[in-house]
Amino acid sequence: MRHIAIIGSGPAGYYTAEAAQKKWGDDVRVDVFDCLPVPYGLIRTGVAPDHQSIKGVSRRYEKTALSENVRFVGNVMVGRDVTVPELQQGYDAVVLATGAPHDRKLDIAGAELANVVGSAAFVGWYNGHPEFAKLDPDLTGKHAVVIGMGNVALDVARILSKCRKELAGSDIVAHALDALCQSQLQSITILGRRGPHQIMMTPKELGELANLNCASPRVDLRDLPDEGDDAMLEPGLRKSVTHLRSFAAIPESIHAEKDIEIAFDFFASPKALIGEDTVEAIEVEVTKVEAGRAIGTGETYRIPADLVISCIGYRSSPIPDVPFDERAGRFANDDGRILNGLYCVGWARRGPSGTIGTNRPDGANVVDQIAEDFDTGVIGKGSKKGRAWFDELSAARSLEVVTFRDWKKIEEAEEQAARDGAPREKFVDVEAMIRAGR
Ligand code: NAP
Repeated sequence: MRHIAIIGSGPAGYYTAEAAQKKWGDDVRVDVFDCLPVPYGLIRTGVAPDHQSIKGVSRRYEKTALSENVRFVGNVMVGRDVTVPELQQGYDAVVLATGAPHDRKLDIAGAELANVVGSAAFVGWYNGHPEFAKLDPDLTGKHAVVIGMGNVALDVARILSKCRKELAGSDIVAHALDALCQSQLQSITILGRRGPHQIMMTPKELGELANLNCASPRVDLRDLPDEGDDAMLEPGLRKSVTHLRSFAAIPESIHAEKDIEIAFDFFASPKALIGEDTVEAIEVEVTKVEAGRAIGTGETYRIPADLVISCIGYRSSPIPDVPFDERAGRFANDDGRILNGLYCVGWARRGPSGTIGTNRPDGANVVDQIAEDFDTGVIGKGSKKGRAWFDELSAARSLEVVTFRDWKKIEEAEEQAARDGAPREKFVDVEAMIRAGR
């Protein structure tokens, strides 16, 4: 019997469990740990609440979770309740699928001002992540600035501009829905330090901005390169740029009908945040793009900003005793191998890029590495006790483990508490989750 511990129950974790099950059938036991009492990681707390069809992938993970040889071990934090070297004593292979839950730091003056928040915190707040549920951003100002031109920036700008009706079928948590519905925002500036040909936004997500009830996207035609230059772009990016071109053609009469303008500000690199205690403006430097890089021109200007959300990428959290690549913000690894018997997968391996589906081949790849290490004797077979070992340790430390069956009770309670038309009302507090699961 092979015993595998996977740390993290998001897409990378469950695709790895699925691949292990496929490879070894009944000859493997997999424990999927999560520090929260609830599974699915970014599917629950990262994917936008109005993208329910994407969240539907959790049904596939549930199939894996409900099989005999995979079990969910919730409410156990690795590094606090059990260390990685300890887990290596109990399991043949330990796989870190912990994602990249922290914001890449916005390293400019004024970043500590009130109402300057990172996307991990802001997205966590509207998605009900217990760590960020109390963020309470002030949405009473008129101007928001979203830094970054990736899909997270799009999620944030879209959620900020949707009205209650547009969020009706979403699972946005009540505290965020109430705050957003009272927002006084008139403008959301999406700030990019490079140009339209360098955006990281995918076409489907970008196109959604054209269909908002209360907001319209604005692009300045002068920022767009010659249309003929789009031919050299890869097809996805070309489609995204086509959306930008259509935004540039939106007539003023349409903008005038909407309460909120979502303005794309290209070639603008953030330099400083200005304000007494709370942010009031952002100073940016005009850039030009040379060989794909943003070069400052020395010319600066200010944009009013009552709320700033930086969506500039994520970092993994270091775990004691695990080699970490500080510069890259992820575990130091060689194609998923960290140390003998210790592996990483997903964002913890490659950094925060790619879609949910990218984690599927990633999971299969790490399982291939583990198989090779079993075959070559790098890791032994049959010497570890896996589940039985952990259950003993958990009892000795009085850990309050949440099982998949407990999670199903939490899920049922969340579904029962849903407002009309919504799929669920999430618990945003760990204790409340545990109580519901008992
Ligand atoms: P991202 O795609 O890497 O975009 C980050 C953006 O931040 C880029 O525009 C980048 O500009 C900018 N940036 C980085 N450092 C900056 C700085 N110091 N100052 C100003 N701008 C800076 O990251 P993301 O939006 O966080 O998304 C992470 C991953 O999740 C992506 O693979 C994304 O596609 C995925 N995701 C997918 C969906 C979806 O499919 N619906 C939703 C959300 C996220 P430069 O390019 O100039 O560096």
